Amino acid sequence: MSTLFTKIINREIPGDIVYEDEHVVAFRDIAPVAPVHIILVTRTEIEGPASVPEHGDHTHLLNAAKIIAEQQGLVNGYRLVLNQGEDGGQTVSHLHVHLLGGRPMGWPPG
Ligand code: AMP
Repeated sequence: MSTLFTKIINREIPGDIVYEDEHVVAFRDIAPVAPVHIILVTRTEIEGPASVPEHGDHTHLLNAAKIIAEQQGLVNGYRLVLNQGEDGGQTVSHLHVHLLGGRPMGWPPG
C-alpha cells in the first residue's frame, strides 16, 4: 500500500507541491510550524532516516532543500529536520526532510 506521501506525489490526494525532480518531491506541510514549512520526500518509499541504504546517494534531499530555500527567499538561513521513530516524532513512515524558515529557530528543539 502506498504511503500518504506517495499518494501526494501521485496526485491521488491533494498537496501544495512547490518542487519536484527525478528523486525528490516537495510540498507545503498541512500543519505549518513556521512561515515556511515544506516537506521534501524521496520518490522511493524508504521508511525513515534509519532505513536509508548504506551505499545510496543521499545528496538528493539536501540539494533539493538548497534549491527550494533559495526559491523561498530564505536568505537568513533555515532549519532541516529529519524525524526517526516514535521518540523522534516521526508520524509518516516515508523518508522526508522538514524545511523550516521565515523566523529564527530556537534551540534545543522541543
Ligand atoms: P513527521 O512527524 O516528521 O513524520 O512529519 C510528518 C509531517 O507531515 C507533519 O508535519 C504533518 O503535518 C505533515 N502532513 C501530514 N499529512 C499531510 C498532508 N496531507 N499534506 C501535507 N503535509 C502533511
